[in-house]
Amino acid sequence: MRLRDLPSVDELAGDERLAGEPAALAVEAARAALARAREEIRAGHDPGDLAERAARELSATRRPRLRRALNATGVIVHTNLGRAPLAEAALERALEVGRGYSNLEYDLSAGGRGSRQDHVSAILRRLTGAEGALVVNNNAAAVMLALAVLAEGREVLVSRGELIEIGDGFRIPEVLVRSGAQLREVGTTNRTRAGDYERAVGPETAVLLRVHQSNFRLVGFTEQPSLEELAAVARRHELPLVDDLGSGVLVGLEDEPSARESLAAGADLVCFSGDKLLGGPQAGIVVGRAELVERLRRHPLQRALRADKLTLAALEGTLALYLDPERAAREVPVLRMLNEPLEAVRARAERLAAAVGGEVEQTVGRVGGGALPLAELPSFACAIEEELAPHLREGEPPVVTVVRDGRCLLDCRTLSDAEADEAATAIRAARAK
Ligand SMILES: *Cc1c(COP(=O)(O)O)cnc(C)c1O
Repeated sequence: MRLRDLPSVDELAGDERLAGEPAALAVEAARAALARAREEIRAGHDPGDLAERAARELSATRRPRLRRALNATGVIVHTNLGRAPLAEAALERALEVGRGYSNLEYDLSAGGRGSRQDHVSAILRRLTGAEGALVVNNNAAAVMLALAVLAEGREVLVSRGELIEIGDGFRIPEVLVRSGAQLREVGTTNRTRAGDYERAVGPETAVLLRVHQSNFRLVGFTEQPSLEELAAVARRHELPLVDDLGSGVLVGLEDEPSARESLAAGADLVCFSGDKLLGGPQAGIVVGRAELVERLRRHPLQRALRADKLTLAALEGTLALYLDPERAAREVPVLRMLNEPLEAVRARAERLAAAVGGEVEQTVGRVGGGALPLAELPSFACAIEEELAPHLREGEPPVVTVVRDGRCLLDCRTLSDAEADEAATAIRAARAK
């Protein structure tokens, strides 16, 4: 084919294979197909079937960019892969509330305006023992709101060992400054004592902030005051103690503090994420003293940081599972993956390996999401040819794997049985490329 034999944009857009498509999309796809065809002709190649190419361009335009993916990395709360997958019960709630109208801000018994914060407040209070609860967009927003309300223009005391970066540049000192508060560092990187806070309290002090060292651990010559000791300092000076738990769990997990424990130890406000170990939607949860929570609720920033109805619905659906901890362990995907017996993971890896001619390999999974950084979750993977990794990423559904020592590993702790079957199909498709 020569350049001058190419059809016009309108001719190509009018091809029957693009019929029924919106004109603007068909024209755009035809333009893109013709531009490619010109390049290929100049390079001495045959551009092939142009209408076919335009139809492919158009279907690429229509394909969602945010897509479901299979997580074969063994990292359970994988920040780049959407953190916590939602429980069925949570999805059902979001679907039901999203499909029609809801009582999001309507008080059904009074027949007038209500608060969106009321829906999950009661269950959060029940699960944590708090007097008050509030939900915003994420935990970063929760911490920011708490500090803006309690410490704007004044000082927040934080240990030098807790001035952490969570990930992707989210740094506690910067959030603190954005909230309008001033950072007052106490102690040293490795050792901070209650007395350091005591000495640092002055007329400008507004808050004692404790930040859970979620994504790292200090070992060796270290010291940190207990929350009880910090609470004693705070009480002596009539200052609020805010505890940023990061992940925050509702069921007992070794090494990861729960909101209930933190409140019992004397924290006045506790902030944690909805989509880390809790296993719900992205959200920031604040629980604590009713009067403080109410001040947060009334602050203008709350309006900017609040969670939307789909989040609240999914969060309520997730929290409801925790009323029965055994049900939560079975049905909240994060907890299920965390607790799955190694033998079950091995059996899945063996099945996958048998289906695709791979090899079973012992691996170490991770909790991820900045929680329990040292926890090693024994796991099993199916190992296949390294070259397949990019094809698997680009397949449908995309499969994200781990490439190590010249092999592509599909860790089976973060795949369900059904997903492992899909991964097997994806591997066959990738090999056929
Ligand atoms: C993860 C984390 C945050 C941020 O939570 P998001 O829900 O991601 O906004 C804040 N503080 C700590 C200690 C964390 O671990």
